[in-house]
Amino acid sequence: MPPLVTTPIALIDRFGRTVDYLRISITDRCDFRCVYCMAEEMTFLPRAQILSLEEIEFIAQAFVQLGVKKIRITGGEPLVRKGALDLLNTIGHLEGLRELVITTNGSQLETMAKDLKVAGVKRINISLDTLDADKFKAITRTGDLQQVLKGIRAAKAVGFERIKLNAVILKNRNHQEVNALVQFAIDNALDISFIEEMPLGIVDQHDRAEAYYSSDLIRRDISEKYTLVATPEKTGGPSDYYKIPDTQTRVGFISPHSHNFCSQCNRVRLTVEGRLLLCLGNEHSVDLKAVLREHPNDMALLKQTIIDAMLIKPETHEFNIHEQPVILRYMNMTGG
Ligand code: SAM
Ligand code: SF4
Repeated sequence: MPPLVTTPIALIDRFGRTVDYLRISITDRCDFRCVYCMAEEMTFLPRAQILSLEEIEFIAQAFVQLGVKKIRITGGEPLVRKGALDLLNTIGHLEGLRELVITTNGSQLETMAKDLKVAGVKRINISLDTLDADKFKAITRTGDLQQVLKGIRAAKAVGFERIKLNAVILKNRNHQEVNALVQFAIDNALDISFIEEMPLGIVDQHDRAEAYYSSDLIRRDISEKYTLVATPEKTGGPSDYYKIPDTQTRVGFISPHSHNFCSQCNRVRLTVEGRLLLCLGNEHSVDLKAVLREHPNDMALLKQTIIDAMLIKPETHEFNIHEQPVILRYMNMTGG
């Protein structure tokens, strides 16, 4: 007999944290091969192993019925998945969802920005690690800076509520770029977050401990040129935010190594294979795809499985930049 389903007001874990934010990786594929995210030669998953768009939609619906208010669509590069816009449109109009957001590398935005807005996407994060075309090519391996800049312009023209740039900073690759990125954000009235590299998957191009450049160092570099005023603002996420006076720009720092943010964690992730991952820096997970494929359309069972999964959400992540990764999955499967 299936377990009795009771509808909670919210998804709450053992440590009293309310989970109201779901990040979904809708594809492991990408047109870039960023050195911190992927190996140069990647093998992508066979189609049968990844969730169909209908399965993603069904799971998203279950989460929204369980109190999730915000969904982020990510990947891989979400905008290279065929049917991504239809999926966004459906999720964006789920009753009860307050915010649909997306993280993209920007390569497809020039043509897709307008449709994203129509689909209900409110805010958009665009990854941009440097404004130097050669460095951009070196970091993304296959990316074209000009294409991404055109994408950013298109997104601005469409008028999303907010656009935030994400920059992963690596020592001696782009740490000298930080203030140019800040100035670009100011000139374009964008927010920007700087991210410490996380040890997900085995990358072949650099030593992560050697490339580590802490948020404290980034903040020091920025403070040499700009005034950073700390804000108590929290987006329910791991970022610490600062304002730059007389600008519209907020600067965030995502510091998994130097400032642990786990106590405020409000999120879980759905991997491209349909695993509900309870923590980015641990392997605790539940196979929602198996549940769905054994019991298609059983919303009550799916919801109960999600409720039960909250019991295994770990207290903190286990990232250690100085060791070989214990987490062998790559960011593109997980959804950064
Ligand atoms: N392709 C999209 C993009 O690049 O924005 C979405 C997926 S990507 C995995 C999401 C974010 O994760 C990006 O901002 C990327 O820079 C970041 N990311 C990827 N690998 C990372 C790593 N090892 N450590 C920290 N951030 C990483
Ligand atoms: Fe692709 Fe984004 Fe990973 Fe870069 S960070 S390889 S753009 S998924």
